[in-house]
Amino acid sequence: MVYFLNEIEHKYLTLNLRPRIRQNPVPEELRGWNWHTPPLKPYYDVKLPMYLICSQYCPSMRDVYLTMVERVRGEENFSISLGKAIHNAISQAIKEAKKGSFNSTPPAHENDAINSAVRQVWDYTLALCRSAYLKMRSEQIYASDDDVVLTSIPFLVEHRMDGSLLGCSGIIAVDCYDYMRNIVFDVKVGDLNPKMRLYTTGYALILESIYEIPVDVGCIVSVTFNGNKMSVTKDLHYIDANLRSWWVEERDKKAEIVFNETDPGKADNCSRTCIFRSYCL
Ligand code: SF4
Repeated sequence: MVYFLNEIEHKYLTLNLRPRIRQNPVPEELRGWNWHTPPLKPYYDVKLPMYLICSQYCPSMRDVYLTMVERVRGEENFSISLGKAIHNAISQAIKEAKKGSFNSTPPAHENDAINSAVRQVWDYTLALCRSAYLKMRSEQIYASDDDVVLTSIPFLVEHRMDGSLLGCSGIIAVDCYDYMRNIVFDVKVGDLNPKMRLYTTGYALILESIYEIPVDVGCIVSVTFNGNKMSVTKDLHYIDANLRSWWVEERDKKAEIVFNETDPGKADNCSRTCIFRSYCL
């Protein structure tokens, strides 16, 4: 399942990432629980959704201005619909698995390509959840069923959080938080890109601001489809001082655009999949 680490990823986590984190811990001022002091304290009284702070597809950041000031709604394209369907399928499949319902069927979609992708990710997620559950069940014969489910599938999915302490919207949903290993996950449909680490950084800061526990490890899960072949790759990383500072810079730059209501203008090299193309171009 997209949130279970394989053997190599687990070795990398325990023998490389965690020791590096212990040697070079996050500075105290960049922990989310210090949201009330600089540099984390929001500079402007503006609340932004996480995707607008972290998205990097509009070079001039006009997407922020259009969404928050002009209140323009972009046009949903195939990539957006596929992404929504995959996120929904993963979270629903995990919820079914936690109820012990390993043979349920995925939601249907009108588009054949989306239907096929959803079916693949659904079957994969349920199969790995079932395997983890049965393995734990056989090792912990005196444990209650609740205990086995909670430890073999230790994922809070689509967990809702209030991001307002850090200048984010009142409700932020993190794709997954593994409460046994203390890892925050974000799923992307498409190839991995280092800029995606901004999302896990933002979620980690919000978890820290609310629960006051350190969250040092993030993981971007990239899911891609080529016909009936699905590929899942992961970018397991340290949510270090550089990433945290970068997230704060992005938040403040974008909040400034909204606060001053300044249109940054069209970008020179717009993304081909931008949802605002029909408005800007
Ligand atoms: S069309 Fe271009 S300028 Fe407009 S929001 Fe999209 S990327 Fe930015």
